[in-house]
Amino acid sequence: MTDQNGTTNIIAALSHVTKTIEGTRRTTVTIVEDINLQLKKDRITALLGPSGSGKSTLIKIISGLQKPTSGEVIFNGMPLEAPTSKISIAFQNFALFPWLTVFENVAIVLEAKGADRQEIKDKALKILDTIGLDGFEDAYPKELSGGMKQRVGFARSLIVEPELLCMDEPFSALDILTAENLRREFIELWTDRKLPTKAILLVTHNIEEAVFFADECIILSKNPGRIRANISINLPHKRNTESDEFKMFIDMIYQILTNPEAEAESIQSKFFISREKYQMLPNAKPGAIAGLLELVFERGGEEDIYKLSDELQMEVDDILPIVDACVLLQFVRVTEGDITLTEQGKEFVTADILERKVNFSRQAMGNAVLVKQIIRLLTAKKNHKLHEDFIEEYLSKYFTQEEAKRQLEIAVTWGRFGELFSYDASTGELYIEEPAANSVRP
Ligand code: ADP
Ligand code: MG
Repeated sequence: MTDQNGTTNIIAALSHVTKTIEGTRRTTVTIVEDINLQLKKDRITALLGPSGSGKSTLIKIISGLQKPTSGEVIFNGMPLEAPTSKISIAFQNFALFPWLTVFENVAIVLEAKGADRQEIKDKALKILDTIGLDGFEDAYPKELSGGMKQRVGFARSLIVEPELLCMDEPFSALDILTAENLRREFIELWTDRKLPTKAILLVTHNIEEAVFFADECIILSKNPGRIRANISINLPHKRNTESDEFKMFIDMIYQILTNPEAEAESIQSKFFISREKYQMLPNAKPGAIAGLLELVFERGGEEDIYKLSDELQMEVDDILPIVDACVLLQFVRVTEGDITLTEQGKEFVTADILERKVNFSRQAMGNAVLVKQIIRLLTAKKNHKLHEDFIEEYLSKYFTQEEAKRQLEIAVTWGRFGELFSYDASTGELYIEEPAANSVRP
């Protein structure tokens, strides 16, 4: 990958890296095998895998601390032969000198390189300030909380202004709240370009952490460590951990990690492809659908969406799911902001409640994939019963857990209104009493 000037964006790369060690009784144990990866400028790459999958081994190899048994490390286009200050590592257990102050713990890195006194002072104070340690220069490690110690760890690996910053589980020794705060601060510094480094490699066994940080998430298998998946997480940074997309990536990676035998790609494609293919039911209750249809009918069978929202004193955003549901059920057509009732829509509005149910069930069976599938499943089962968890589980292949729940809920309210099936809230079971009669509705 090269930019316009022909310079490469790849800061460091592993090419066919394998590491073996001599085990007992002259056996050879393969720790990692045939690893190919590229760490690019302005990107955070996460290396995620179970304990023992070779993450720490790989980070040591990338930084030149260990030699691969075969394959090579390329750094700035050249084979890497020895550790360099252009690549630094931050560890989980801070590794601070207890007899040195915060300032000295950070400055010592440059002293070891023989930098001049003033430069050391300037750079140390600057990085301490950036990383939130202003005022703690003279404190000793034992006086600091875990979070503050790790800040010193970060300052120390950043003072050399490395091109590549490697971090081996840097948040995992911290309590949850401290870790969360530090992660947020860290990503803020990174996105605001205040961290003096070009690329980051983050090793973690924490899925949420990987999805929070990574532009690219590499998943390792165990025994031996191989690359199982390389997932590009194309969400803007300072990510909202509550968003559906964020949760989708968590679910997907969780499924990959908990199914070590499965092909990661097929799990990934289920999430990406099927999600788009699977019809999503708009979140609207039958009562709301009927209400909207009645209002349009009263307006002569055609009305502007914005006028309707005015009339109902609702935001357009709140009406849209109801309109979408009416479109999906073919009760209305929407063109250029105007809603028009279809023949089926008129039929529905002018019917009595029983006819409305028949009418609704026909439109739902014909147009709502999930409703149709539930009926098929119930009809196929001998006892005509199905637990809701089964459907939710099935839906979670296509949607986030939260959305799967919602989709099921919508399908159930629609199915119940159309008297297509019943639902027992105390057991969580869906069932039909007369499958033949229900499944061959006109
Ligand atoms: P991770 O960081 O993913 O937990 P490591 O890279 O620390 O994994 O270790 C991977 C595997 O290699 C583990 O099973 C570990 O026991 C083994 N291993 C690593 N280094 C050595 C070593 N020097 N001697 C023996 N086994 C090692
Ligand atoms: Mg490790």
